[in-house]
Amino acid sequence: MSENQETNTGKVQEFEYKAEMKQLLNIIIHSLYTHPEIFLRELISNSSDALNKVKYLQLTNDNILDKDSELKIQINIDEKEQTFTIEDNGVGMTQDDLVNNIGTIAKSGTLEFLEKLKEDKKDSGDLIGQFGVGFYSAFMVTDEVVIETRHAAKDSKGLKWTSSGDGKYIIEEIDKETRGTKISFKLNDKSKEFAQEYKVKSIVTKYSNFADFPIFLAKDKVNTVQPLWQKNKNDIKKEEAAEFYKFITNDFEEPLDYLHLSLEGSSAAFNAMLFIPKKAPFDLMRNKEHKTVQLYCNKIMIVDDCKKLLPEYLQFVRGIVDASGIPLNVSREMIQDSPIISNIQDILTSKIIGWIKDMLAKDKSKYLEFYKNFGPLLKMGVNTDFKNKDKIIDLLYFESSTLPKGEFVSLKEYVLKMQADQKEIYYLSGESREQLEKNPNLEYFKKQNIEVLFLSDPVDVFVVPSIGEYDKKNIQSIDKSDLDIKDDQDSEKENTVSEPLLNLFKETLKEEVEDVRISKRLVDSAATLVAGTQGVDKQMEQMMRMMGQTPEATKKIMEINMNHRLIKNLAKKYLLNADDPLIKTTVTHLFESAKLIDGDLESKTDYVKRMLTLMEKATE
Ligand code: ADP
Ligand code: MG
Repeated sequence: MSENQETNTGKVQEFEYKAEMKQLLNIIIHSLYTHPEIFLRELISNSSDALNKVKYLQLTNDNILDKDSELKIQINIDEKEQTFTIEDNGVGMTQDDLVNNIGTIAKSGTLEFLEKLKEDKKDSGDLIGQFGVGFYSAFMVTDEVVIETRHAAKDSKGLKWTSSGDGKYIIEEIDKETRGTKISFKLNDKSKEFAQEYKVKSIVTKYSNFADFPIFLAKDKVNTVQPLWQKNKNDIKKEEAAEFYKFITNDFEEPLDYLHLSLEGSSAAFNAMLFIPKKAPFDLMRNKEHKTVQLYCNKIMIVDDCKKLLPEYLQFVRGIVDASGIPLNVSREMIQDSPIISNIQDILTSKIIGWIKDMLAKDKSKYLEFYKNFGPLLKMGVNTDFKNKDKIIDLLYFESSTLPKGEFVSLKEYVLKMQADQKEIYYLSGESREQLEKNPNLEYFKKQNIEVLFLSDPVDVFVVPSIGEYDKKNIQSIDKSDLDIKDDQDSEKENTVSEPLLNLFKETLKEEVEDVRISKRLVDSAATLVAGTQGVDKQMEQMMRMMGQTPEATKKIMEINMNHRLIKNLAKKYLLNADDPLIKTTVTHLFESAKLIDGDLESKTDYVKRMLTLMEKATE
């Protein structure tokens, strides 16, 4: 919504924020006081982006204002007046930029971010930069912000944007000779320390030491300005790398690990500084907007988030790649699709996998910390990267039935622990560990002390069935009907008692199940359902549902436990009086109970009604 009004000084336009924006502003201003100093980091980061953009334009475009001016960021403070200004001669903004980039939240994850902020107030300061709302952190330290800006195109106009963060903002034309952006405000009383020289200096060196451009406070340069990735690997200190990481990512925490690469070669020469963050970005699997790697060419930033440098399953890696062979005269979209980039992607992929493998070999607990955060994404590589599939499979870890909650086993370790006569690797998938532990199909394995991998990450059902075998051993779901396991049931009983009983079950449930069999895997439960010979198993069903398909309803196989008291009683009753109506009611109820455990029972009312009939009989 906008309203135009002409005044003496020129065109003044008043705009109103969208509702979502108002909500966000409200939260930032009134409940985000955990780290007010981040406003400075965010504003410097924006200036630095703007300078990077203009640096690129200067190389590729002639029609640029102030083409020869030195690229820099200038901060001025006045302690007495409590004022703060930060100015850059970067790319500046047009009116459309002001409306679309400053006045609107472009990113789709922001609403969820709002929810997250409400829940989790402590962490919110750290998350601000992730969601493209960094500029608004200024409202933590002031009540009104003024932006004066002029875009780098020669025919641009000077513009002034003013807002108190109260739902409205004003844009008017002004005279501005030079390109770039100046942001100024009066600090509120709570934040007057940010007009003190030592304070500002220490924040700048803390967060922005590695800005590519000089940052001046009054007349002094306060940062180092050195492209760390160009240094010799052995000259890079761990602390330096951590500071650099924080600067490029706006993360508050140090990275989990870093890797410096310096490659020479005909196909792709590049330097890189790569980092694995400590924590996954908000909503790693669904939100594809989190940033990855910046692409530079000879110290000039070309693309600020070059996703094509990494395969999707490694897009948790952050950092910088500086490749000398990137052509500057083609568009950024074209660059991303160029053979040089896919070449670099290949090299980076194998380097990163090697790096992660090393981490596992050197420090397993660190690796598992990494795996808990980024494992869900990494695993996808098993299905998408044929070349590296085997290496990724060796990086997989799972919880299991013989390990306490929170402990993990790899396939390699599993195989080493297998029992002497065990031929297959077993797994069971489900929503949570609690649910998996209660699964009746697990009973046999528990009794025999055979390890079963627990797949409770939703991604697992995409990944594990597609591995097929490991170390020449089949990887088998224990939900399958044709499990090759030892027979634990009494075989004599099988002929005399079980034959007629099985027929009774088959007859009663002939519309419902594919077959009824004597179970080898049940110990404590009376009955269970397993995948039929035609049907897909539980994993596949889950997988299809996740991909938005409805699996075809196929009949399952019911297994009954001949050693269970209930089944024994039923057999006795049947021999005494085959026509007792209670028998069929019990059979149907057993079947529906197994369905209920599987989460597939449709009509709960029938179930409860039948249950009441049975209870009535039992209490007679
Ligand atoms: P982000 O930096 O993640 O995009 P911000 O809220 O920090 O989110 O900034 C929003 C947008 O405003 C930037 O993407 C940029 O387009 C514009 N912007 C902010 N500061 C400047 C500046 N100093 N010069 C030019 N554009 C800027
Ligand atoms: Mg920003």
